[in-house]
Amino acid sequence: MPNQFGPEYVRAIAPYQAGKPIAEVAREFGLDEANIVKLASNENPFGVPESSRHAMAMAVSELGRYPDANGFELKAALAERYEVPAEWITLGNGSNDILEIAAHAFVQAGQSVVYSQYSFAVYALATQGVGARAIVVPAREYGHDLEAMAKAITTDTRLVFIANPNNPTGTFIAPAEIEAFLDLVPSSVVVVLDEAYNEFLSPELQFESAQWVRKYPNLLVSRTFSKAYGLAGLRVGFAIAQPALTDLMNRIRQPFNVNSMAQAAAIAALNDKAFLDKGAANNAAGYCQFVEAFEEMGLEYVPSFGNFVLVRVGDDDGAGARVNLALLKQGVIVRPVGNYDLPRWLRISIGLARENAVCIGALKKALS
Ligand SMILES: *Cc1c(COP(=O)(O)O)cnc(C)c1O
Repeated sequence: MPNQFGPEYVRAIAPYQAGKPIAEVAREFGLDEANIVKLASNENPFGVPESSRHAMAMAVSELGRYPDANGFELKAALAERYEVPAEWITLGNGSNDILEIAAHAFVQAGQSVVYSQYSFAVYALATQGVGARAIVVPAREYGHDLEAMAKAITTDTRLVFIANPNNPTGTFIAPAEIEAFLDLVPSSVVVVLDEAYNEFLSPELQFESAQWVRKYPNLLVSRTFSKAYGLAGLRVGFAIAQPALTDLMNRIRQPFNVNSMAQAAAIAALNDKAFLDKGAANNAAGYCQFVEAFEEMGLEYVPSFGNFVLVRVGDDDGAGARVNLALLKQGVIVRPVGNYDLPRWLRISIGLARENAVCIGALKKALS
């Protein structure tokens, strides 16, 4: 009997598929956890920064109390770092939470949300979760076609999601193009600029998108501590937007959506420049390692600006799943992207040099 509970738009949601946990792969394939390499969720290969460990140890004794619902200290640190008033910041339980809150705060059932083909899976989930209609704009060379996205906006559009760099394709949109897009978008439409991978951009490509927020009252910039800062398990993200947007976000969010440990760890990581620099250098070297291997193997890949690469592993629609299974059997976890309508491709996160080498070796074996 079909499920009679809940609205039709909730029943239509395809649940998010996360990267396989190491313990699960060890169980399923009879492998030793210590020998498994996980390059599936764009996590930081260096793990938790030492500075955050220390801050969390200090925060333990306060866990009997509720967290600061307003995240005063973390917001103050972010406000200083991004040169915006603390009142412009919304904290999230990961930036996924920010994306969800935005959908709930700005869109009602029946209205529409615009995002790109091959963009982050959570945009579809957040849209469907409020019963809104998705307008999915065909990608251009695996990235956002901002001109087409501007044209796709209709009278009932309330929200646009843009990922820069994009996940799972790794494509990057130049600042001038984003600014041109923001100039075209009606001021009644909220633009969420999701910059989960911003910290991996080389310095000449880094731009202070937080400063655009001053110019565009309908812009919300979203960032996370899950990737470059190595705190994915703690769940901390944040948004920067003018008070009109921030005020509505604040009404929708759960009062204690970011826990005390996460707040303490994020403050420490934010100022840990050495950790960020180490991660960026490792990522740049690891990217070259993968790209050289792909070129040697004759594999097509999408040039990436994030901490992962999308690579085509075959010419038939079974290729991604087949090669993924062959990698799992060798203890290498990557991300199949059939759910993104990319069944011939795999997304591989960039790890430590040793992990990358194991993955490349396993890929060669899987394809031979
Ligand atoms: C990983 C990712 C996020 C962030 O996830 P959280 O862990 O919830 O902060 C947001 N957007 C994109 C495009 C991502 O790839």
